[in-house]
Amino acid sequence: MAERGAGALIGALELGGSKALCAVGTSRHTLAEVRVPTSTPDATLAAVERFFQPYRGSLGALGIASFGPLELSPAAPNFGGLLATPKPGWANVPLLATLARALAVPIRIDTDVNAAALAEQRLGAGQGDDPCVYITVGTGIGVGAMVGGAPLHGLLHPELGHLAAPAWCDFAGVCPFHGRCLEGVASASALRARTGREPHQLSDDDPVWALEARYLGALLASCVLAYAPRRLVLGGGVCERAGLIERVRGELTRQLAGYVPRAELGAAGVTDYVRRPAHGTRAGLVGAFLLGEAALDDPR
Ligand code: ZN
Repeated sequence: MAERGAGALIGALELGGSKALCAVGTSRHTLAEVRVPTSTPDATLAAVERFFQPYRGSLGALGIASFGPLELSPAAPNFGGLLATPKPGWANVPLLATLARALAVPIRIDTDVNAAALAEQRLGAGQGDDPCVYITVGTGIGVGAMVGGAPLHGLLHPELGHLAAPAWCDFAGVCPFHGRCLEGVASASALRARTGREPHQLSDDDPVWALEARYLGALLASCVLAYAPRRLVLGGGVCERAGLIERVRGELTRQLAGYVPRAELGAAGVTDYVRRPAHGTRAGLVGAFLLGEAALDDPR
């Protein structure tokens, strides 16, 4: 990476469904950070701008890691804007354009999960591993992928949380678009709808966790078959449940049924193959810093 001038601070914004993290610093050192609630777009983006305004003289670039779906085709008139998100009020919000107007610095934007995949591949649990896939299971289910050292974009970006649930699924699901997609049956919102309780109130031996592991095993198997990743990184609040990641690893091996003949997918190898994120809940923000650093090195 190029040597930077002493004044070049990076801004990072991780825009999540319930909160936005704003920070300045670098990918290795945060100097200041605030958390603002994700409420209406106007109020949230005004709070974000208020945080960054005092740094305008020294801010060299901004990286944005946002919930999606996002328009990431540079040629599109709404580049960097939100698309058909189910989050009320946020569909079609011109996120990048709004902040570019307010801050007048180079900006790079990606999905929160692509940013987390970037952070884990560059500085975390997937260093040297390409492709590297990051999966988060929380309020929603997201998948980001680093392929050839870059976040994967194409027609859109990876949206594997919305794969159809397996045929054995017996739950109607809660996704407003698909009902029983994997997010619709296995996210924290789905666990809440299925059990009538908050996920953190469920005991470790509740039978729902065996079911959850089956669903997530199916998702990870799809990731293996779709991207041939050399590393899977599994994060998100739901996956912090004691014993769940071990069950998911077992399900991944069981559901692939020997079809992918690699030691990484055997009982001895899968523990290392499916890792927890080195950056924990900070992966998206670290990824936003890395996006900002990329924007500084290569404004476009
Ligand atoms: Zn869906």
